[in-house]
Amino acid sequence: MAASISLGTFAVEDFFSARNGKNSPMSRTTNHASPFGRFWSALFKMWSFFVYIFHKQYKTIVEHQTVRYPISPMGCITAQRLLAVKHKILVLDLDETLIHSTHDGVIRPNARTGNRPPDFVLKVLIERHPVSFFVHKRPHVEFFLQTVSQWYEVVVFTASMEIYGSAVSDKLDGGRNILMRRYFRQHCTQEAVGYTKDLSSISADLSSIFIIDNSPIAYKGYVHNALPISSWYCDPKDTALLDLLPFLDSMRFVRDVRTVLSRHRNINVPLKSTVKNIENS
Ligand SMILES: [Mg+2]
Repeated sequence: MAASISLGTFAVEDFFSARNGKNSPMSRTTNHASPFGRFWSALFKMWSFFVYIFHKQYKTIVEHQTVRYPISPMGCITAQRLLAVKHKILVLDLDETLIHSTHDGVIRPNARTGNRPPDFVLKVLIERHPVSFFVHKRPHVEFFLQTVSQWYEVVVFTASMEIYGSAVSDKLDGGRNILMRRYFRQHCTQEAVGYTKDLSSISADLSSIFIIDNSPIAYKGYVHNALPISSWYCDPKDTALLDLLPFLDSMRFVRDVRTVLSRHRNINVPLKSTVKNIENS
């Protein structure tokens, strides 16, 4: 494949070999064509090569474009209404919600990492063995955290080990002091179906706390305090975090999160597909 921007003969020929196959008519040299025919053939190849490069670059730009959720200034009445309700806690899962990671080259079957390098690599000691984790950040996670931290007290609750979850949280936080309150595997309850998360261990007031988690098992004891999100396995076009922002913007005004979340449960993510994702993970 033409990985080089070079317009040299090799790059162009390499491009056509990859696109059309080595034995395709386009890749064969037209030794018997007239000079005029060879000129047009070369010109066509150059044009196709430029189109290919442009399309590739355009796709990269689209996938990494900056997207913003405009936050309008709050009027006096709106601000008073917000003061009349409690400041809420937003609990966030890590794996397949904010990030996706593999360790020491083990890639899950449904992962779509492609050739993209990880956003960061963590080297941690687990049971005295050094393990490298290759971590991909879900698209828009930085902006998501920056935005929701203005609306909620943000808490991390992961079923992963503390040494890993803490390192991932540090990287996502990036010194912004957003993810300072953290709960790990030792704070979960191990049940036959997996690790479940007890939200009451974070706050006894269940009217003002809810969790965003890709795993329904994690919040099975608090289904009216959960906002489902699809499991993320490195799809670069994913916008799930951005899509939640208007809803989260509104949720801070409600008196009891359960009145809304009990109505929205399983709308965003069908339980069946989410459980299937978990089984495949
Ligand atoms: Mg998860």
